[in-house]
Formats: sequence, structure tokens, C-alpha cells
Amino acid sequence: KVYFSYVDIHETMSSLVPQILEFNPSVIIAIGGGGFIPARILRTELKIPILAVSLELYDDTNNTTKPEVKKIQWFDEQSEVGSKVRNQKILIVDEVDDTRTTLQYCVEEVINTNNPSEIAVAVLHNKLKPKRGILPDTVTYFSGADVEDHWNCYPWDA
Ligand code: 5GP
Repeated sequence: KVYFSYVDIHETMSSLVPQILEFNPSVIIAIGGGGFIPARILRTELKIPILAVSLELYDDTNNTTKPEVKKIQWFDEQSEVGSKVRNQKILIVDEVDDTRTTLQYCVEEVINTNNPSEIAVAVLHNKLKPKRGILPDTVTYFSGADVEDHWNCYPWDA
């Protein structure tokens, strides 16, 4: 197990801000639960709205991975910000890119339902390992830190 503090996480997310500002997204899509706090940290500096989605691959009750991603909640496409995802540059935020399954699902879902003009993904940690999920070449990828394939313990899991 590897433990990370809120300070570690804040510094790692903040280190991504210059590159993300260059990409210049107009909306963040935060993948919850883990992506909510990293997205909120970015919002302080990016000053753009957050849309929340909730996706579940990992089952906390018995520490196993489910065969497929479960869509718990998607953002409100009729809302003022949600309706603007179409034809905009968007930034998808999650805490950890493990097998990449969740990110692939989220990217495909947002392309199919809302067709943004460009997509970037920002994760706090990218685990260095073979990935199950694939992201299209057109997606810009930002990782705060590349980490070994261990179990990361985040402060919100405490
Ligand atoms: P994926 O395998 O789809 O890339 O990641 C699925 C989800 O599993 C992540 O969003 C995260 O919630 C959870 N997960 C994967 N690896 C870790 C880890 O090392 N620590 C924690 N806390 N969650 C993880």
C-alpha cells in the first residue's frame, strides 16, 4: 500500500495546471467518487465549471473488480453547463488510471452522447502497467504522476 496526503494530491494536481491551461477546456467532467476532489482542486485555478458523473468498476464491499463499468449517474445534459458540452473542449478528471477501463467508458460515453470538439483526460496518478482500456489518439492525456502498480491509499479512503 502507498499512502498519499491531501498536500501530496494538491501539489500533484496543481503541477498539471499550466499544461491544462494551454489545452484550454471550458468544462470539467469529474468522475466520482475519486475524481471529485482532484477536479475541485483544479477548478480553483482553471475557474471553469464542474459536471459530475458517477461510475463504478471497483467494488469496495468485497475489494473486487466488476466485469464492466456501472453508470451510477451521468450529468444533466439539459442544464445550462451540460448543454454546452457539445462542440466544446472538455477535461475529464479521475484520481487514478489503473486498467483504464473507466476512462475508456467515460470518453466513449461523452463522445456518443454529447460529441465535444476535443477531449483531454487528467488523472492524479497513472499506474505503470498494461492497460485494458484504450483511449482514442485524439484524446490529450495528462497524468500528475506515473506510479508503480501498488494499491494507492487516498486520504478520502481513511
Ligand atoms: P480503472 O481500472 O478503470 O482504471 O480504475 C477503476 C477505479 O478503480 C478507479 O477510478 C478507482 O476508483 C479504483 N482504483 C483503482 N486502483 C486504485 C488504487 O490504487 N487505489 C484506490 N483508492 N482506488 C483505485
